[in-house]
Order: sequence, then structure tokens, then C-alpha cells
Amino acid sequence: MKYLQFTDGTKIPQLGLGTWKSAPGEVYQAVIDAVNAGYRHIDCAAIYGNESEIGEALTHLLKSGSVKREDLFITSKLWNNAHQPDAAHLALKKTLSDLQLDYLDLYLIHWPISIKVDAGFPFTGSDFISPEELPFTVTWKAMESMKKSGLARHIGVSNFSIPNLNKLIRSAELMPEMNQVEMHPFLAQKELFHFCSDHDILVTAYSPLGSSDRSSGMKADDEPSLLQNEVIQGIAGDLDCSPAQVLLAWALQRGTAVIPKSTNKGRIAENFRAQDISLSSDQMKKLEALDGTYRFVNGKFWTPQGSPYTLEYLWG
Ligand code: NDP
Repeated sequence: MKYLQFTDGTKIPQLGLGTWKSAPGEVYQAVIDAVNAGYRHIDCAAIYGNESEIGEALTHLLKSGSVKREDLFITSKLWNNAHQPDAAHLALKKTLSDLQLDYLDLYLIHWPISIKVDAGFPFTGSDFISPEELPFTVTWKAMESMKKSGLARHIGVSNFSIPNLNKLIRSAELMPEMNQVEMHPFLAQKELFHFCSDHDILVTAYSPLGSSDRSSGMKADDEPSLLQNEVIQGIAGDLDCSPAQVLLAWALQRGTAVIPKSTNKGRIAENFRAQDISLSSDQMKKLEALDGTYRFVNGKFWTPQGSPYTLEYLWG
């Protein structure tokens, strides 16, 4: 198992299981299959609507002795409708209760965007709370107190650009320890990755396979495919592995954590085995040359007419 290290010396397994769009009725078995395959890092979020089922699976695994709590690394994320400090503390409590855990290993502000408590997808302009009214720096104070209380061993953010990280860092007492962002060869985010490394912020790459499920209704019809890309398939052919494994090996070799989602037992195991693959510097260069600006999770749902947020605010 490969690990990254936080500044205090604690470790995060580099490869984790993603759980967005892992359907209720499927995610229980996916978590069991993942832990049995060797995964120790599970990426969750309140908004995924499946934390209570993940909690059932974790409790089963812990009670059966398959794994010890201290060997697991469980991440969750604070949803945008709970950015007021009191609401944030309640949201953490609910997540802990759903996951049947006493503490999280990592808790992240899911997006640098605040919405009203009862806002529902798709958002309209009146669903938002502006950054002037509720800056994420206020939410960060609550995150800091969660870390101090030990309910979240590590704290961080997700979908934060360099300008937003700078704003946060300027007022922070405790530094964010993680930034979870979309990252793959079509969106390598070199500058953001360097900025995070320079500030001792680890990076987790989300949607590493291109988030190929279209059922969320957020997909463009003309979106490119990572798994069917010729260069990626060519490298997979040369290494006798799958395109997904090439993508995961790329993320691991760059030094990010990476959290592919699957509810399929075979693909869960296949993704885990990406840790055994080594890409040559020539293969890394070929993948680097694919870099562009394609976002599978483009954030446009945060910018309906009347929203105080823009894509420029979001991505810098
Ligand atoms: P991924 O890039 O992980 O792709 C998931 C899709 O790929 C699923 O349709 C899955 O299907 C399929 N798949 C998985 N393994 C393979 C394989 N070996 N070969 C071919 N297809 C495969 O997408 P996600 O967007 O889900 O990103 C991963 C995780 O990142 C999320 O689940 C979530 O935890 C996190 N995330 C965080 C965000 C944030 O805002 N912080 C935003 C987006 C994601 P199947 O299940 O059938 O195998």
C-alpha cells in the first residue's frame, strides 16, 4: 500500500474508494469488497446520500475484525448548505452518526460556495448566500474547532483554486491539510498542485477516470473520454494493463491521493492493483502532453442566473 504523509507525520493511503453516485443498495457491498481487496481509504460526503449505508458496512467490517479503525482512513465533506458554524458542527455530528464513527480522519469543505439550508438541485439564483454574507473563512473557524476537538483528525477543502486558498490561508489559524480537486491527464492542474505542495497541502485527485456515469444529468454530450483516449490505451497496451490502471498509476506517481469510484467488485480490485504499475518517464511525458482544461465536473450548476458565484470565482 502506498501512502502520503501529513505534516504531523500521520499517513493517508494514496488510493481510496470514491462513493459519489454509488447507489444505495450497492455501496454497502462496494465498501466490503474494497476493504477485502486491500483499500483502507474511503471518500464520502453527506451530499452523496449514502453515508448511513457506508456506516453499516464499516460497522460490519470493524465488528467482524476484518479491519481495525486505526487502519482505516475515512474522509467526509461538509455540504454547502451548512456553512454557518452552528450548522457545520451539526452536519459533522450527523455524518459521524451516519458513518457510525467517533471521529473522521479528514473533513473537507466540499465547495467554496454557500447555499441556503433548503436549497435543492438544480439551483436557482435565490438559493445562494453570497461570499460577502458568509465567507468560507467563517466556516473554516468551525473546521478548526472540529480539529481541535479531535472529531476530525485532519481538515481541508475541496474545489479550492489558488486565489481562494490564498484567502483562506491569510486568515487561518490552522492550515488546510488537503485540497480535493478534479485531476487527470486532461486537467493536470500543475500550477495548483505546485502551490499546494509549496504550502504543505496534500492533493486528492477526484474523477480520475473521467466520471463516466452520465446519470447525474451534469454531463455534456460531447465530453471527451479518458478511458478511450488513444495515448492512454496505447500505454495500457504496452504495459498489459487497463486504461483505468494507467490513469490511476499516473495520479499515484505524481504524488496525489486518488479516489476512483466503482461498485463493481472486479473493477474495485483492478483499480487497487494500479499501485503495482510503474510508468516510465517517457510514458509520464506522453500523458503530460495531453494536459488541457477539460473539467468533467465544471461547476456550471453553481452559476445560474442571479447566483453571486461565477466560474472565474470558482476556478480562478
Ligand atoms: P471516476 O472518475 O472515479 O469514474 C467513475 C466511473 O468509472 C463509474 O462509472 C465507474 O463505474 C467507472 N469505473 C470505475 N473503475 C473502472 C475501471 N477500472 N474501468 C472502467 N470504468 C471504471 O468518477 P467520480 O466522479 O465518481 O470520481 C471519483 C470520486 O471522487 C467520487 O466518487 C467522489 O468520492 C469524489 N468526487 C469528489 C468531488 C468533489 O467535489 N470533491 C466531485 C467528484 C468526485 P462502475 O462503478 O460501474 O465500475
